Amino acid sequence: MTPQAACDETLLGGKGASLAEMSRVGLPVPPGFTITTQVCRAYLSTGRTYPEGLREEVETSLAAVAEAAGKTFGAGPDPFLVSVRSGAPVSMPGMMDTILNLGLNDETVEALADRTGDARFAYDSYRRFIQMYGTVVIGVEHALFEDILDEAREAAGVDRDDRLDADALRAVVARYKQAIETDMDDPFPQDVHDQLWGAIGAVLESWNNPRAVTFRALHAIPDEWGTAVTVQAMVFGNSGDNSATGVAFTRHPSTGEKRVFGEYLVNAQGEDVVAGLRTPDPLLPNGHQAGRSMSEHMPEAFTQLVQLGDRLEAHFGDMQDIEFTVDDGRLWLLQTRAGKRTVDAAIRIAVDLAGEGTIARDDAVLHVDPSSLDKLLHPSIDPDAKRQLFARGLPASPGAAAGTVVFSSAAAETAMGEGRPVILVRPETSPDDIHGMAAAEGIVTTRGGMTSHAAVVARGMGKPAITAASAIRIDPDRRSMRAGTVTVREGDWLTLDGAAGEVLLGQLPMVQRPLSGDFATLMEWADGARRMAVRANADGLTDAEAALGFGAEGIGLVRTENIFLEGDGLQVMREMIMAPDERARRFVLERLLPVHRDNFVSLFEKMAGLPVCIRLLDPPLHEFLPREAAELDRVAAEMGLPADELRRRADELHEINPMLGNRGARLAICYPEIAEMQTRAVIEAAIIAGRRSDAPVVPEIVVPLVAYYAELRHLRERIDAIAADVKARHGSDIKHLVGCIIELPRAAIRADLIAGAADFFSFGTNDLTQTTLGISRDDAAHFLSRYLTEGIIERDPFINLDREGVGEVIRMATDKGRGAHPGIVTAITGEHGGDPESIAFCEQIGLDYVSCSPYRVPVARLAAAQAAI
Ligand code: ADP
Ligand code: MG
Ligand code: MG
Repeated sequence: MTPQAACDETLLGGKGASLAEMSRVGLPVPPGFTITTQVCRAYLSTGRTYPEGLREEVETSLAAVAEAAGKTFGAGPDPFLVSVRSGAPVSMPGMMDTILNLGLNDETVEALADRTGDARFAYDSYRRFIQMYGTVVIGVEHALFEDILDEAREAAGVDRDDRLDADALRAVVARYKQAIETDMDDPFPQDVHDQLWGAIGAVLESWNNPRAVTFRALHAIPDEWGTAVTVQAMVFGNSGDNSATGVAFTRHPSTGEKRVFGEYLVNAQGEDVVAGLRTPDPLLPNGHQAGRSMSEHMPEAFTQLVQLGDRLEAHFGDMQDIEFTVDDGRLWLLQTRAGKRTVDAAIRIAVDLAGEGTIARDDAVLHVDPSSLDKLLHPSIDPDAKRQLFARGLPASPGAAAGTVVFSSAAAETAMGEGRPVILVRPETSPDDIHGMAAAEGIVTTRGGMTSHAAVVARGMGKPAITAASAIRIDPDRRSMRAGTVTVREGDWLTLDGAAGEVLLGQLPMVQRPLSGDFATLMEWADGARRMAVRANADGLTDAEAALGFGAEGIGLVRTENIFLEGDGLQVMREMIMAPDERARRFVLERLLPVHRDNFVSLFEKMAGLPVCIRLLDPPLHEFLPREAAELDRVAAEMGLPADELRRRADELHEINPMLGNRGARLAICYPEIAEMQTRAVIEAAIIAGRRSDAPVVPEIVVPLVAYYAELRHLRERIDAIAADVKARHGSDIKHLVGCIIELPRAAIRADLIAGAADFFSFGTNDLTQTTLGISRDDAAHFLSRYLTEGIIERDPFINLDREGVGEVIRMATDKGRGAHPGIVTAITGEHGGDPESIAFCEQIGLDYVSCSPYRVPVARLAAAQAAI
């Protein structure tokens, strides 16, 4: 047990600590004391016994508080009443129990009535106490009391408790006590000390009630923490029309507007405001309940509430959510905590608080949860729209979209050509579906998980996706799908709520809120505090434009696969693959050089001198050949080749495990002509773009899937030679950089050597996670979810970087790389580059930049700033 002086939340609980702090700085808080969470741990682990000396200490403290108030616990003429309140180290609103008006019995209730001259009030308090104690401590059904109260209201012909008179309440009390005695074979305890210890025990036990246990599991709150118990003098919101109880936010929790917001109830107590029996009135007039607002009804208490709210904000440096009571005109604070708020409100409040000088700019940056920004950056469904659920799935990618249903990527592409918005519904997606996904407004898959292909690609594209909507049965022949009894056909409208994982029927209206001035201000402050640079992964101009709009400082990864798939790129690739020898392949590839070059020129121009890092072709060649027999025949016919020949080549290239196959550096070594063509295109484009503007272009080329120093040295020699040749021909002396993606453990282990051939390391954490853990991302959903529920791992390593494993590999590679090559640039370019926790780790080990999908750039900017503060 601790006097209310130290304000340690882990010991006193959030509520106890804030009460202690408020009374320490002289705010009007009813006196009391707090039993620490240590007692809870001891009590629950020792078969419900209290630590030595606790009983005496509690009784002494209680007597002292009562005496200071000039009252007596359990006796007249002025009986002392207390509340016994739960309070966990972090807020678990309403999950545990609290008992009010403790200390009332058949004698003290009469004393209270005499003393206040208000028998109605005394008996109202007593019936509330019996009801709370009866349900929480004794375990009587709540309904039993409600029935009695209903009958009393009916008998008196009133519709509200506060209209029952003293006699009616006296009768209710008698019936309550009778009901408990009948139900429990034991009378309601009249000894106030029994009441006290009964309440303390019940509040401690409420740590383990099912609601609290579930809440902790959902919010990752350790079971070991335990609750504190605050015993506090009662103040009475139910002592007449000059009394009230209420809840106030110091600023609007939805908009952040600086204006007190909340509700209160006159002549009421405790949870009446949220109980819903009476409709609470607003603190400020809202036009609906004229004349009943607190500012009109109790102007003095209201003014004081606003002033105290300002003081609390100044003291705690944040918007507060306050529980208060007015007892006969006098305002008391019963709880304060940082208020929950929407992301819009969070940004506005942070910027305003800093503007008002209440907090520093760095603190403002720390006030906003980076992940919450996601919601701002995507359009959302009009909150007033009526929703009709078709099916539910995993919220794989946030945002909202509406479109008509298609069941194939080809149909999605056709629709895009005709300017029709569509939702692509597939069992799951594969790299073949990239174009269909790009054409669709949103994606639904019936299988997969949070990290399946559809989820990852959609997040990268900034499109909503819902995966594992397993209630949906697709009937490809009828081009329809069913969930429960509802059937949806191709062409019917659907709307997706990606953040909620909901597939909704019909076309719902959308709202795209503009990014407010406050957002820009906060981002500017974040940029000022940040050490790491933030780049985006961008495959084309659309991505690059989005990235710039979101404040990216360059492109950390350009995947070049798309260029091979666009226009007649795919056809050229197929011809190259079928060409008889290297010479013929080079000849065919020449046709792709201008396409590549044009692509890179426009990318360099768009990025106007900001760094752009281009990855050499990564996937194995067979990804460019058709898979299905019918498709193979068609392509062969188109190419004027015998189908057998194409099939033979496809078989030759087939790999059992393409993820570990002939890709990346290996491909570049086996088919040097591809990497050479790409290098030529990059350097030529840089020279052209550089000449058209005054911003010099320093192109960066990155080699994927390097394992050996010798691989990179071999490739770098060729890249440098080609670059030198191009530069000489163009009379240019631009610089270029060559680096490698570290995505194999061997590369990390040999990073000191490899650094000798690299200007930079780019950690490709998607593959590095796969190769370090030996887990294929596409197949992991089943067992990873089991691992998560069994507690074998705490987080999905494909979403939050596995610090202890993959993170250590990165740290080692960084240290070794820097040891051998001081100043080598290091970066992370996997999906983790947009995850705030992973970004914090990158800051810790001192990486130079993170690169993520364009839509996550603001998230990364804020997270990187928070990590640096
Ligand atoms: P919860 O954690 O569920 O909010 P609290 O301990 O905050 O539980 O109690 C709920 C409500 O009971 C408070 O908001 C307040 O209205 C009322 N209450 C608690 N203690 C007192 C007290 N000492 N005097 C008057 N009302 C109280
Ligand atoms: Mg509370
Ligand atoms: Mg990779």
